[in-house]
Amino acid sequence: MKRFVAIIFLLFISVSKAFAGTFVVDDALTEIENVTIITMDGNQISRDMTVSARDGKIYALYNTAEFKSFCESDEKAICLKAATVIDGTGKYLIPGLAEMHGHIPNATDIDQNLEDLLFLYVSQGVTTVRGMLGAPGQFELRDKINSGEVLGPTLYLGGPSFNGNSVSSPNQARRMVRGQVEEGWDFLKIHPGMTLAEYDAMADEAARLGIPWGGHVPEDVGLARALEAGQRTIDHLDGFDIFVNGVTKPLDQGRLDQAVELMLTAGAYVVPTNHLWETLLGLPEKDDLEAMDELKYLTPAARRQNRSRYSGQSTGRDLVEARHNAANRRQILKSLSGAGAGILLGSDAPQLYSVPGFSLVREMEAMAEAGLTPEAILRSGTATAGEFFSNKDKFGMIAPGHRADLILLDANPLENISNMRSIAGVMVRGIWLSRAEIEARLSGIEERNKGGSFF
Ligand SMILES: [Zn+2]
Repeated sequence: MKRFVAIIFLLFISVSKAFAGTFVVDDALTEIENVTIITMDGNQISRDMTVSARDGKIYALYNTAEFKSFCESDEKAICLKAATVIDGTGKYLIPGLAEMHGHIPNATDIDQNLEDLLFLYVSQGVTTVRGMLGAPGQFELRDKINSGEVLGPTLYLGGPSFNGNSVSSPNQARRMVRGQVEEGWDFLKIHPGMTLAEYDAMADEAARLGIPWGGHVPEDVGLARALEAGQRTIDHLDGFDIFVNGVTKPLDQGRLDQAVELMLTAGAYVVPTNHLWETLLGLPEKDDLEAMDELKYLTPAARRQNRSRYSGQSTGRDLVEARHNAANRRQILKSLSGAGAGILLGSDAPQLYSVPGFSLVREMEAMAEAGLTPEAILRSGTATAGEFFSNKDKFGMIAPGHRADLILLDANPLENISNMRSIAGVMVRGIWLSRAEIEARLSGIEERNKGGSFF
């Protein structure tokens, strides 16, 4: 009750002329009322709530009926009423999702294809993307999204990759770090191929300048050294399978325990991308991939590219080994989650058969297959992502002051993570998109990409 009263003060304005039971319509306010909210703030679920948003931020949350009766019974009360009211009766509201390993293509030309790609993310409730490869035009794109000129998720951008080709010496690695800090990238992206000396120089310079780095673990470096040096994210669980002797056979439990310990000590995060990895390991049948409904939203060129890149399910010994690797990846993820290590949701969209937005739900289902609870899975894409970027902005929870990024669902995702597909609407930085609007725009994308040659 104390909390309720405190929130009421936020919404209560007192004027000289008093009307009993008067609501004043506030044009800047949007609210979702009578909804069950899953705040992701300490596992809190509350029913019959109203969540309001203003200027792209969550403004207040309060019990819908209590607020109404308060305003109607107190003759001095004049209460703000949103101009836009969304009925959330019977529905569930969660924070928007972060794709923590996503890709934004070269953005020098903000054309229809790029706008469609951004909308695919938003359509499935992805309101934040950590861009995992720097390319020209991305800063301008990020700014246009922030200013509302282009509709899309909030972007945090990694720079052009540090890898065996782009890095030629320790000194050059240091120069590259300084260059990227100057250009303003949010973090450094690591790909395979650096030598240990180059990696150490990069890490030292990055730590000195306070820019985080994440991505792959170069083989010459290895998981233990990368964690010790301070790498913030280990994407694709890279380096784990080697560390636990589990590339092609059942893993070594003692080594897994050590890896978990190293992760906890480092306070680093993993972005498993297990769904994508099963495709890269050659586990799915090609026909099953081709049957994915969301492929219809890709351009004909992207569909062709998927087809030509995936040769089909592995066979014989390769298939047996791939299955071991995939089972090990599930076990590693389960152990990390159980121990309380940092887990971040990511699917590497729009990589191989990963349609932006849609692939994130598939990754959530892959996490469930690994044995994670729906609550842990949701946290990896909401509160933990917000914690990861807490120096940039407030997001990832339903709480006043957080970015107004929300997903309205018909069914409870804590009961079954596949209920993430029951989207009734999405709010991105305070902009409300109803199911009807989302479906209309998705149909437009499908229409635009029809007819192109599949071969
Ligand atoms: Zn990637």
